[in-house]
Amino acid sequence: MSKKHNFGAGPCILPQEVFQQASAAVLDFNGLSILEISHRSSEFIDVMEEARDLVKKALNVPDGYTVLFLQGGASLGFLISAMNMSGKNKKAAYVNTGEWARKAVKEGKNAGLAVDVIASSEDKNYSYIPKGYSIASDYDYLHLTSNNTIFGTQFKSFPNSPVPVVCDMSSDIFSRRVNVADFDIIYAGAQKNLGPAGTTVYIVKENILGNSTHPAIPTYLDLKVHHEKDSMFNTPPVFPVYVSMLNLRHLIANGGVPAMEKRNQAKADLIYNEIDSNPLFKGTAVKEDRSNMNVTFVLEDEALAGDFTKMWTDAGVIGLKGHRSVGGFRASMYNAMDLDSVQVLVDVMKEFALKKA
Ligand SMILES: *Cc1c(COP(=O)(O)O)cnc(C)c1O
Repeated sequence: MSKKHNFGAGPCILPQEVFQQASAAVLDFNGLSILEISHRSSEFIDVMEEARDLVKKALNVPDGYTVLFLQGGASLGFLISAMNMSGKNKKAAYVNTGEWARKAVKEGKNAGLAVDVIASSEDKNYSYIPKGYSIASDYDYLHLTSNNTIFGTQFKSFPNSPVPVVCDMSSDIFSRRVNVADFDIIYAGAQKNLGPAGTTVYIVKENILGNSTHPAIPTYLDLKVHHEKDSMFNTPPVFPVYVSMLNLRHLIANGGVPAMEKRNQAKADLIYNEIDSNPLFKGTAVKEDRSNMNVTFVLEDEALAGDFTKMWTDAGVIGLKGHRSVGGFRASMYNAMDLDSVQVLVDVMKEFALKKA
């Protein structure tokens, strides 16, 4: 098969080396398959420990935080974070920056909280990140979505908050430096930028554990339970945790998050420059809030969509179709995507403009 350039929004591409190591472990992991080993074996306990440690290392997680690998995706994270952060005011603030943020709002309500959407970009189809709003100090927490996978916007800096901040970082965790101390809970589905689908990473300030005012958190949804069991309360997703660990090893061996941030900036600059200089295309997000992970753009003339799609498909590009709520195209460029693959797409855009001139 000729090389495919996977611009899909998730599950994500991973480094080739990680795919190779993961497939080798399916066949032989200390004489067994990684798929059959006991999660209580010392071999797997080592994997889980290393995975948790590597998350701490990659993001310089300060003391006083725990790292957990759970199941349920970020979609369950919406509910888990709300239930665990439910405090004395039973009231939370959310910033609505897109479809995932809206789903988080819904789960905040399902957790029994009064939810205020204190800022929203819904008025302009989520094409920007709201700014300049105030955050009252009587909320139990503020919920943010760092990168809006569908709409192609990203918080370049986070608001100063008088209350604890919870952040869904599913689609940009490990893509750039973040100051973990600014957050009480960070959660992220692995399949956008960390590993295969099937696990969700949580970075949790330990002093929130056990303080929830929720009347009855189901056992699995209680982060304290998972912390006390070293992320092994029940059978963990062994293979997704293993592959995530391999990817974190690869990340750290290649310069860690700071190196990745530079590489991601170079990829973003390359494609946004093309979108801005090519007369056939325009970006859908305002420039200052453009995501470095998910690049959303449309054709000035939608009637050309079929011809353009044929050209990028012929070049081996896949997964470029935009989400139905934005239309057009979306180039998702997670950590493992090479600059060369972005160049392939940019070359197609240039060639398309020449052809249509
Ligand atoms: C994909 C995505 C989700 C949903 O993730 P699941 O793991 O499928 O539940 C939530 N938030 C963001 C920002 C996403 O990109």
